[in-house]
Amino acid sequence: MSDSNENAASPAAAIGGRRGLMLILSSPSGAGKSTLARLLLEQNPDIYLSVSVTTRGRRPSEVEGVHYHFLTRERFERLRDAGDLLEWAEVHGNFYGTPREPVEAALSAGRDVLFDIDYQGAEQLYEKMRQDIVGVFILPPSAAELKTRLERRAEDASGVIEKRLRNARTEIAHWRDYNYVLVNADLNSTFANLRNILLAERLRRERQPGLEPVIERLDHELAELAE
Ligand code: ADP
Ligand code: 5GP
Repeated sequence: MSDSNENAASPAAAIGGRRGLMLILSSPSGAGKSTLARLLLEQNPDIYLSVSVTTRGRRPSEVEGVHYHFLTRERFERLRDAGDLLEWAEVHGNFYGTPREPVEAALSAGRDVLFDIDYQGAEQLYEKMRQDIVGVFILPPSAAELKTRLERRAEDASGVIEKRLRNARTEIAHWRDYNYVLVNADLNSTFANLRNILLAERLRRERQPGLEPVIERLDHELAELAE
């Protein structure tokens, strides 16, 4: 799928270049953020996906280095204690964290970075880098649908699913921390809304640092026309 509007706002096409933005997706487990992230990356290969480190066991469908870097608790703690994680949190009984270096490199190179992290991680990033962040919270349309999605995904044991459903209320309570909230009932509509958010955020005045010379030139041309 290609979209000329979207391309017009991509980093490569941005006038004068800019620092990348940080698009954070959070939701209770099963609401659909990984699905939305995958669709967005398919359509925008220029976006860098931040691959987290975790102490959680690998799911059957997951690939080391693609979905996560799966680490022992000792290795995780070493990275964390060395300051190599931009943020980290304990979620559903496991540790998760964002490796610092690849994110900073991508942002400096003008690439937008996508994060699939929980509210605790989002809070830490908002504190450190608020002006770079576009936070989107994804809600399920109902509790029954959330349960159905977790069961249909069929990648977690039933005890794990119950724990995730129990934690959903705590997670949803943080909806106000985010810039945008999407109710993911119909996947196509939610995805269209997410794309529109990204498009608008890329076009924010403060994200177009190269505008000044354009304005100056226009002003100069208009002054000449008026002579
Ligand atoms: P999360 O990453 O938030 O835990 P997933 O993206 O893994 O959630 O989605 C959980 C399950 O729900 C997956 O099987 C996915 O295909 C499905 N799903 C996601 N969005 C929708 C939707 N709008 N309608 C129906 N099913 C959905
Ligand atoms: P899952 O085990 O389903 O992949 O992820 C569980 C939760 O951990 C999700 O809410 C996911 O967004 C969150 N998560 C994944 N990676 C990170 C991370 O690096 N930091 C934080 N804080 N949360 C993460």
